[in-house]
Formats: sequence, C-alpha cells, structure tokens
Amino acid sequence: KVVTRFAPSPTGYLHIGGARTALFNWLYSHHVGGKMLLRIEDTDRERSTQAATDAILDGLSWLGLKWDGEAISQFERAKRHRAVAEELVRAGKAYYAYETPEELAAMREKARAEGRPPRYSGQWRDRDPSEAPKGVPGAVRIKAPLEGETVVHDLVQGEVRFPNKDLDDLIILRSDGVPTYMHAVVVDDHDMGVTHIIRGDDHLTNAARQTVIYNAMGWDVPKMAHIPLIHGADGAKLSKRHGALGVEAYRAMGYLPEALLNYLARLGWSHGDDEVMSVEDMVKWFDIADVNKGAARFDFAKLEALNGIHMRAMDDQKLFDIFVDTLPYLEGGPAIAERLDAAGKARLLAALPGLKERAKTLVELADGAAFLFAQRPLALDEKAATLLGGEAKTILRGAHAALSGVSGEWNAAGAEAAIREFATAGGHKLGAVAQPLRAALTGKSTSPGVFDVLAVLGRDESLARIGDQID
Ligand code: GLU
Repeated sequence: KVVTRFAPSPTGYLHIGGARTALFNWLYSHHVGGKMLLRIEDTDRERSTQAATDAILDGLSWLGLKWDGEAISQFERAKRHRAVAEELVRAGKAYYAYETPEELAAMREKARAEGRPPRYSGQWRDRDPSEAPKGVPGAVRIKAPLEGETVVHDLVQGEVRFPNKDLDDLIILRSDGVPTYMHAVVVDDHDMGVTHIIRGDDHLTNAARQTVIYNAMGWDVPKMAHIPLIHGADGAKLSKRHGALGVEAYRAMGYLPEALLNYLARLGWSHGDDEVMSVEDMVKWFDIADVNKGAARFDFAKLEALNGIHMRAMDDQKLFDIFVDTLPYLEGGPAIAERLDAAGKARLLAALPGLKERAKTLVELADGAAFLFAQRPLALDEKAATLLGGEAKTILRGAHAALSGVSGEWNAAGAEAAIREFATAGGHKLGAVAQPLRAALTGKSTSPGVFDVLAVLGRDESLARIGDQID
C-alpha cells in the first residue's frame, strides 16, 4: 500500500512551492488509494514556530489537502532518532568522533585553502573507542562508503549517480545528543512506512546521503520522486514578486482553492492538452511518471484566467458559499460581510450569475457586488458621475416614471419592457437610457445587465436610487 508524506519545516508560511509538493503527494496517494501523512519537521528549534505550523495546517485545510491521521512532530521523536544512531554505532556502521568545533572549522579552512570541497577526514572512523578523550562529548558519524557510487533511482530524474568520495561521514547525532535533520528524516520515513518520497529537487543530494543511512540500517529505500522547482515567468528563481507567497496570500487575492490546485498541478505535470481540471479529474489522471523534468514557470495571468474559468463553471450556491466564507480575508470583503443580512444574501445569490461573468477573482466579485450593499445616496465613481451629467437627468426622470408604472411582479422582463417602451417613445437609444440608469443604480459604469440589476435590487430600492440622482 502506498504511503506518501508531506514534510514541511515550520519556519514560515506554506509557500506556493510547498503547496505544490503537498498536492503531488496528495494526488498520488489518492490516485492509487494510499495515504498521505503529514510530518512537521520542527527539529530546528530556533527557527520553528507554532504560528508557522498553524499557518501550514490552515493552508492545507483551505486547499482541501487533508492528510491521514495525526500530524507528526519530528522533534518529539528525538529519542527514537538517538536510539537508531546508537544502534548503528553498536553495529559498527557509525562511530563517535571527538573533534571540537574549532578543529572542524580548521579542517574546513584547510580544505578551502587547498581548493578542495570540505570533507570530514574520517580520522575517528577506525580508532578504538578506548582512545576517546575524557570529558569531550562525541558526535556520531555514519560510515559512508569510501569507494564506488551511491545511486538514487528517481522516478522523475532517472538514475542519479553520486561518487562516494563526495559523500563524507555525515553527523547523525550531534555531540549535544541532538539528532541531525538528515538522520531524523530517514528514521521517520522508515518508521512511518513511507513508500514514496515526493519532494523538491533541491533535496536530490540529500537523497544520496539519506540512502547511505538506509543502507547502513539495512532498510529498504523508499521510491523517490524529486520534482523540479517552480521558477518565475522570466525563468529566474521564484521570488515574492513572481508569486512566492504564502497560500493565504492567494486566498486574500480571491483565488478559489479548486483553481489554485488546478494551476499548481499543471506546474510540472500535464495530462495531454487538458488545462481545466476538477480535483476529481486530477486524482484520476495524476501519475508521477508524467511529471516533467524541467523547471515550471509561475504565471499570474494564467492563474487568473484559470480562476475565472473555475468561477464561471461553478454552481452558484457553491460559489456563493465559498465567497461568503472567504469574505473576511478579501480586500474590501469585511465591509461586505458586515452588511450581509438575510436580504443581502438573497440579493447576492440572485445577482451571482451576472456578477461571475465579469469577475476573474473573488476580489473582483466583491468589487462587482459592492453596489448590492451600498448605502444611499450612492457614492459615484468618476465614470458614473460623467454618465449622470448633462441630458442624463431628464432621461432618468422619464425612466423613473416608466418604472414606477410597472404593475404586478417586479422582474427583469417587466423592467425591460417598461424601459424599452419609454426609450422608443422618447426617441432615445436604449444605451442612452441604460447607461445613466446603471450609474444611478450601481454608482459605476460597469455592472451585470441593467435589467438584472433592477430585478436584484427590487422595486423600492431601485426607484429610490434613481430618485436620489434626479432631485
Ligand atoms: N522539511 C523539508 C523542507 O521543508 C522537506 C524534507 C523532505 O521532504 O524530505 O524542505
């Protein structure tokens, strides 16, 4: 049974690259009916924070990337990591080394001066433990193979070979008894029963070092897939300007989880020419074998276009629910959330089909919906104010009278009939009536169809808003 894991370090928010790694692990485990576990790699006590862990869990939950079981803290497993290190010493696969930090620094300095990469000399590797200096705590180092090569069989990168002379005897347990990150990862992945490690290709060299530890313990090496990193649209390493933000920033910018997942999946993976996919499609189609080797490029314009497509395709009630849930995080959203009473919700839902045609993000949707909740008399934007100048007031007076005469149920068709009749009778083009009407009703020059706006606002509010502009 396949077990994948997402293993973020809680030193910052869940950034977009991490979210994609989580997505690939989640997709693969779901594709094959396995599990995805979550391990918080909080061994670095200085840089790890609870706030970062919370942000990561929150980001994953928002995206709907639910992990199986409880999140595991790597730090809390330190005892087990120590035990394995000691087991390796007993088995003669690792040894205590007694250099002081100063000696190690001198070794590195010497290597630098001689133009060699800094490698540990291995000077305690074959010495008898009885030679250990008194009162100096030792660090445990793994005995890395001295000759030949270590091969990483990677599902994305293929066979990657590392000459063993480049892999020195790595510390697995520091002299203060703290396990190193490299060692902890191996012990945890083994104990958690991880069968597939899917992570960024910046970990490829670690994979070779970790393989040495697996081999020393006689454990099976999990299958590995090192996925290419995400670059900016210009090909440079992803920076904040390119979109290297936390996923909560994408929520605030008004992207739907479905659209962001669709976009992230396509960064480095493809399924034929399919661009727009639901989460179910991705689960059905995702396979590690189809992950590309080359770096993917992050492009905001594509994400935005895709988001618009997902918004328009989404069932109105579902979009409405997501919109309402997201309001507190959106620019301009909290003000709307405050005014969203039952009548406001009904208006919003009724207006949604028209609004979503004009919005690529939930922020744009909020912007488009603002007129529904605006207080009278409406603040007019510049274009709306222009549309209401000159002749417009006379036309609006006529439109007001025509709409006041509508009898029976108030709806778009009835309002349209009245306005058309008035326009024809007065020799006005329909646009010459519709434009100032829209400006009066919404305070803007763009909105859903003006008859839909009239219907959504209702008779009293519509007439009052028009009235505000002609008195
Ligand atoms: N904690 C590592 C990171 O956040 C991931 C390690 C791994 O996946 O093995 O980059």
